[in-house]
Amino acid sequence: MFKKILIANRGEIAVRLIRACSELDITSVAIYSDADRHALHVKKADESYNVGADPLAGYLNGHNIVNIAVTSGCDAIHPGYGFLSENPELAEICARRDIKFIGPNADIIRQMGDKIQARTAMIAASIPVIPGSEGNIESLDEAKKLASSIGYPIMLKATNGGGGRGIRRCNNEKELIPNYDRVISEATKAFGKPEVFIEKCIVSPKHIEVQILADSFGNVVHLFERDCSIQRRNQKLIEIAPSPQLTNAQRNYVGELAVKAAKAVNYENAGTVEFLLDAENNFYFMEMNTRLQVEHTITESITGIDIVQEQIRIAFGLSLQYKQKEIQFRGFAIEYRINAEDPKYDFMPSFGKITRYYAPGGPGVRIDASIYTGYVIPPYYDSMCAKLTVWALNWESAMQRGKRALNDIVVFGVKTTIPYYLEIMNNREFKKANFNTSFVDDHPELINYQSQFPPELMAAAISAAIAAHEGI
Ligand code: ADP
Ligand code: ADP
Ligand code: MG
Repeated sequence: MFKKILIANRGEIAVRLIRACSELDITSVAIYSDADRHALHVKKADESYNVGADPLAGYLNGHNIVNIAVTSGCDAIHPGYGFLSENPELAEICARRDIKFIGPNADIIRQMGDKIQARTAMIAASIPVIPGSEGNIESLDEAKKLASSIGYPIMLKATNGGGGRGIRRCNNEKELIPNYDRVISEATKAFGKPEVFIEKCIVSPKHIEVQILADSFGNVVHLFERDCSIQRRNQKLIEIAPSPQLTNAQRNYVGELAVKAAKAVNYENAGTVEFLLDAENNFYFMEMNTRLQVEHTITESITGIDIVQEQIRIAFGLSLQYKQKEIQFRGFAIEYRINAEDPKYDFMPSFGKITRYYAPGGPGVRIDASIYTGYVIPPYYDSMCAKLTVWALNWESAMQRGKRALNDIVVFGVKTTIPYYLEIMNNREFKKANFNTSFVDDHPELINYQSQFPPELMAAAISAAIAAHEGI
């Protein structure tokens, strides 16, 4: 097995990766910017290296990161998600320097990172894709022609997009005209590439994605699906595994479809095939993410498989430990992305000092966090500061457990999405497992919760404030 792994990331996912290393008796090496001097991943890693004063540049400098890996005696680099995780150049630099990149090879990252190339590969493999462009759109005129032939509403999307950015719905040509320039500009700013394409807008679909694992011997298995339909502005907020909205027949069908997709591109390591499910129960391939996903925790909860450890084993050259029929799931898991944001102010980021943090516990509760009491959340990064994952034997109990844990966790000092999630948990349609990607927009009333904290936590907040005032 690898002896030492460099974690090319920060925040909760860096902590998650360090934990996997520790369980495999692998030494972990962290990197950190000046702003992250006091970050949890630095405290948890066996060794750590400063990558400079700029909050972002150090995490994005593949050459320097690989240099640190080589000089500190690492065998491999895990990129996590975000940052360089879908950057084919990092995989190439690693290959040249004899450092194993824990993920697929550069060609697959490049191919799947380009949504047009991904679509082309899936069409060739007879996987249903969302009707849309065959290539990038070269002009507004071409966009108009294609959109009217597909039929409105359409989605204008950045070809190299990710993280829910660079996507705009256009309901008619009048909306397409300004959005065309807007998406090009967003794509250029966020992804450094101006290419855009058009897809038919599937109205109010369900987002269903399948976790797959593929080893270097051509074995591919799926770990069932996740329902990520609870989204805001195309970004996931709450994810559920398995989807409480699928029949077993649909589950098996989409799982096999994902395996077929992965085999078609000779995929290796962990990956996620994302689909949209329309109101007529058609599944359409949307994209493939060639990395560990934020919400991998819910799949781990229902299958008992440690996806990060599997990634490391696969990268080392070991074959998959499980055959498809040996992979079972049990119960339901729900993940809540706890973001330092104020839902009442359009989810505005709320950075600053965590004056008090208490992690929830008890049966079926898992926390992946990057915060601690006294930690100051820097303003330069993602607002997600913790992930709460709950598991229980059935949908009802999973929801009850989710509510209990959301009431149990204490995050004072910054505003968070916790009270908003509690409202969602009390929504009748959500409870009946009847929701799609329009849920958040369709329920603006859920933002009108009374207070940031339920009464018992409010009392604790007041006593903490008094204690702070008295200098206790
Ligand atoms: P997941 O698909 O794992 O649910 P998200 O789409 O929410 O993940 O993205 C995970 C993280 O990676 C977020 O911090 C997001 O901002 C970032 N991210 C994802 N794709 C890209 C990309 N292509 N470029 C830059 N950041 C990205
Ligand atoms: P990203 O790479 O940013 O994750 P995706 O292509 O996965 O982008 O899309 C993100 C979300 O945007 C989806 O989960 C879905 O809610 C919405 N979306 C994307 N494409 C479509 C489409 N053609 N029709 C309807 N919704 C879409
Ligand atoms: Mg996606």
